[in-house]
Amino acid sequence: MKLQKIAITTLAVLVSLSLSAKQNGKWAIVIHGGAGGAPRNLTEAAKINYEKHLEEALRIGVSMLENGESALNVTQKVVNYLEDCPLFNAGKGAVMNIDGIHELDAAIMDGSNLKAGAVAGVRDVKNPINAARLVMDSTSHVLLIGEGASSFAAKMGLELVPNQYFSTKARVEQNREIITGREKSDPRGTVGCVALDQNGNLAAATSTGGMSGKKWGRVGDVPVIGAGTYANNSTAAISGTGHGEFWIRRVVAFDISALMEYKGLSLIDAANEVIFKKIDPMGGSGGGIIAVDPNANIAMVFNTGMMHRAWATYKGDAGIGVLKGQEKFILLK
Ligand code: ASP
Repeated sequence: MKLQKIAITTLAVLVSLSLSAKQNGKWAIVIHGGAGGAPRNLTEAAKINYEKHLEEALRIGVSMLENGESALNVTQKVVNYLEDCPLFNAGKGAVMNIDGIHELDAAIMDGSNLKAGAVAGVRDVKNPINAARLVMDSTSHVLLIGEGASSFAAKMGLELVPNQYFSTKARVEQNREIITGREKSDPRGTVGCVALDQNGNLAAATSTGGMSGKKWGRVGDVPVIGAGTYANNSTAAISGTGHGEFWIRRVVAFDISALMEYKGLSLIDAANEVIFKKIDPMGGSGGGIIAVDPNANIAMVFNTGMMHRAWATYKGDAGIGVLKGQEKFILLK
């Protein structure tokens, strides 16, 4: 009888220990809406508009995390919101290639099991991040491209749209400027979200139209797992934005994770090392990353004059920033 009582008590202690280890209640989220562009061209009205939409995206993510949703679902939902918002270079409002056609890339990664899904060069999937999620959940593959990715998305019941759905007046104008040589192709407006949920799981999701004026069929860093998108519960979840060719060559997101795993660097030290010591000396037009680690530490590191960003953690700190060095703190409740 006594032995039975001890066994039951031990079991209860073990169950409660494992629950508290799993449900640590800590959560954090960081969002980006791209880096790059000249701060002098940003009007106050445009900045306020970006801030408004970043805040809306942030609030979607925060309420999901507070309700105990998974980091994976949170990052996907937040990226959905940003894909549907015409301000950003993802989904509606995406940039065009040199022929005036939108070709979209997206990726999502689950830090709890290193599963990942991505699509590249899709021309008609309304929300590419949803297709990426289905590649991860419903196939044995990581990356589907072009028409194959589209027909997979259609079979899975995702909404397909005509290519012109993604166009906005601003993007048509921008493409004309690039073709006539009046504007340089510049990374701007890609979207991403990284999150830590209350169960200690990390996830990263990124979606983009790529670089404006890119060549047909060009694939950037976003759907290349380890370059623009990466998540590993034992290190960090990372989403990048910038000139993708450099991000691919430096395997930016994985490099940050690897510096943490193999050299024991903190998240912020690893991110600074990669952006300022590895990417900077290579040239290119720059960019940045957002990241979160299992302890709800966050990083928003960029080598450009602006990166659209928003963040919040379980501790109650939350804010939005567009220009470098200028951040606005917000109250979540
Ligand atoms: N990284 C994206 C790409 O190269 C562009 C961006 O971040 O704006 O496709």
